[in-house]
Amino acid sequence: MRVATWRGGSEFTVDTVDDPSPGTGQVVIKVHSSGICGTDIHKTQGLFPGVPPEVLGHEFVGPIVELGDGVDSSMLGKMVGCTLVAACGECVSCKTWSGMHCEREPRLAGGFAEYVLIDQRQAHIVPDGLDPETASMTEPAACVISCLNMLGDIEEGCDALVVGGGLLGLFTVGMLRLRGAGRIILSEPNPKRLAMGRQFGADVLNDPTKDDLGELVNDLTGGWGVKIGAEAVGVPQLVANVSKMVRPRGNLVLVGVSPVGSPLPIDLYDIHYKEITISGAYGAGDAFAEALEALLRLKLEGVVSGRFPLEAIQEAFAASAGGEGVKYMIAPND
Ligand SMILES: [Zn+2]
Ligand SMILES: [Zn+2]
Repeated sequence: MRVATWRGGSEFTVDTVDDPSPGTGQVVIKVHSSGICGTDIHKTQGLFPGVPPEVLGHEFVGPIVELGDGVDSSMLGKMVGCTLVAACGECVSCKTWSGMHCEREPRLAGGFAEYVLIDQRQAHIVPDGLDPETASMTEPAACVISCLNMLGDIEEGCDALVVGGGLLGLFTVGMLRLRGAGRIILSEPNPKRLAMGRQFGADVLNDPTKDDLGELVNDLTGGWGVKIGAEAVGVPQLVANVSKMVRPRGNLVLVGVSPVGSPLPIDLYDIHYKEITISGAYGAGDAFAEALEALLRLKLEGVVSGRFPLEAIQEAFAASAGGEGVKYMIAPND
């Protein structure tokens, strides 16, 4: 089969390797769509840990085309979305933390390839009515849901701010809307992304290069700030900015992934005085199944900005890193 191997920096090669063959409890997926994640981009920019050579891509979906021993024969042909690890459900991390932190099971991904070998416990059947390309966005949707699950119940009708209108920011807007937030403000400099905030349920759109976000939040909230302030970019200074717009007893939510080693550029006295809770969540947590259902309730038209063959992966990464669109797909079998 053909795979796109990341060679370091922005360099990829398309290589022919042996077809995967499933062991006990494993299945082979024929990749229909494989989304380029912000963390994939960040790896190529040295902002997220990664050691080349590696076949990247962990947001993939496709039909199961081969079964290993011990897998129910009814799984053959099923369209599935996949978590990154097969949570054993028995280790301390699985029990007390999340399946993403399973101590026993290896990460099986590598979606920028014609086929991917996974453990059957990673596979989640795509519900009727959800097309495969959309279903490939389950992992990022689960990341957002996992972040919001940290907050517990969301206060009905509360004000919320989302900074960043990439896919994670838009999903954050959409999930806050589904969970009963009141007025939702989206701040994003790219006009196309910003406009898309409306279809996810944003009430107020802010282009921070034109209008001061702090003033806007002050005006709208009578100077109190928002109950929930989410940063969905992964830039520490933006996290600091959002922290200033969170009301007393509010939540500062880290949806974006800041680079490893980022210090917290926040006045900690502020956090103490305003009694703010800061939370983040790693990856999809245990929210994958919940995310598959949630995707059926979001309006996702126009979110996929481009679909590229394996051979054009460098071009696809460049387009994705350029930030013009929202989500870019690699389609190894089109
Ligand atoms: Zn991802
Ligand atoms: Zn485990």
